[in-house]
Amino acid sequence: MLTFQPGALRAVTHLIARRMGSDEAEATEVADHLVRANLAGHDSHGVGMLPTYVRLLNDGLLVPNQTPETVLDAGALLVIDARRGYGQRMTADAVRRAIGKAKEHGACVLAFRNSAHVGRIGTYAELATSQGCAFTAFVNVADNRDIAATYGASEPRLGTNPFCTAVPGPDGQPMLLDMATTTIAAGKARVAYNKGVPVPDDCLIDPTGAPTNDPAGFIRDHTGALKTFGLHKGSGLAVMCEIMATAVAGGQAAHEPAKGGVLNSMLAIIIDLAKIGDPAAVIASVGATRAHVKSARPAPGVTEVLTPGEPERLSAARRNAAGIEVDETSWSDIRAAALTLGIAEAEFEQASRANT
Ligand code: NAD
Repeated sequence: MLTFQPGALRAVTHLIARRMGSDEAEATEVADHLVRANLAGHDSHGVGMLPTYVRLLNDGLLVPNQTPETVLDAGALLVIDARRGYGQRMTADAVRRAIGKAKEHGACVLAFRNSAHVGRIGTYAELATSQGCAFTAFVNVADNRDIAATYGASEPRLGTNPFCTAVPGPDGQPMLLDMATTTIAAGKARVAYNKGVPVPDDCLIDPTGAPTNDPAGFIRDHTGALKTFGLHKGSGLAVMCEIMATAVAGGQAAHEPAKGGVLNSMLAIIIDLAKIGDPAAVIASVGATRAHVKSARPAPGVTEVLTPGEPERLSAARRNAAGIEVDETSWSDIRAAALTLGIAEAEFEQASRANT
């Protein structure tokens, strides 16, 4: 394992995004997003995504500096087509606009279509909660092979379709649930494969539909599938993420022809707490629920009962202090992707030593 300061990973990401063609603001947004995902402990959605982004760029499936199309801007409704724009930039801009509309109308329903990979959904939830808004998003993943097997299926028919919901809490710490609807996110199988470790039970099936802990078939040979979580209930949520993001929000669906990219679409509902009631009372209520849930006696082998969003905050505190570990395979893939963009070895090395 290699260990980097967050600033070093931001500098490397910024360098790569700039060389991919992004303007300064976009490169900064992408770098902040990816490194925050690493800090939150979600290496699957951190700097390890960069080689994929370079491949998508080369295949014409990710467009830096894209101008999104506003399909509809009417009262509390905002419909945006990101036209394969760089996901972190497209989504943050769309959510910022939607927050503005929620402040005006009390709430905004954002239908956001066809963005290149948007990364960690929780980042957009944090944008909303930092502005005193509640946030709920149903997201789908399309334009590639299906990788998620729904309940009772022995082969995949969906993407990892994340669901995210958040409400501001005391001390700037929202209650924030942000999850793939598969037992593990696809990138976690990639990270396990790169580290040479098995994935936990109940995450993967092999091509026959039998359970497996070995990520090699899924990552290297593109066989088998991730399982949706929580039996028929998690599977149902995965299907509804697909429906909300496609049938309702108008994004590309898993059943439509794929070009081998990563397209995320999202139906998000943003509520301004100051318009619906008293934000201070909401925050106090979230704090009381958090305390109540955490007051339960921990299960055997568990030291502390945690609530949604806490593991990410604990990880960020640890990694801000001790640095972020990146496995050697992921780092050499990032370096190789950088070199294909014409970045010189020395320039890459210099960025990877930055400490800002
Ligand atoms: P995860 O399983 O690590 O965590 C899911 C949720 O459970 C989080 O809200 C977390 O705070 C909470 N949690 C975790 N451990 C807990 C504990 N011990 N007690 C209480 N709560 C706990 O997350 P994941 O499903 O692997 O998803 C990882 C990331 O992948 C998310 O940020 C998601 O947005 C992202 N994702 C993105 C896409 C995409 O296409 N853009 C697709 C899938 C997932």
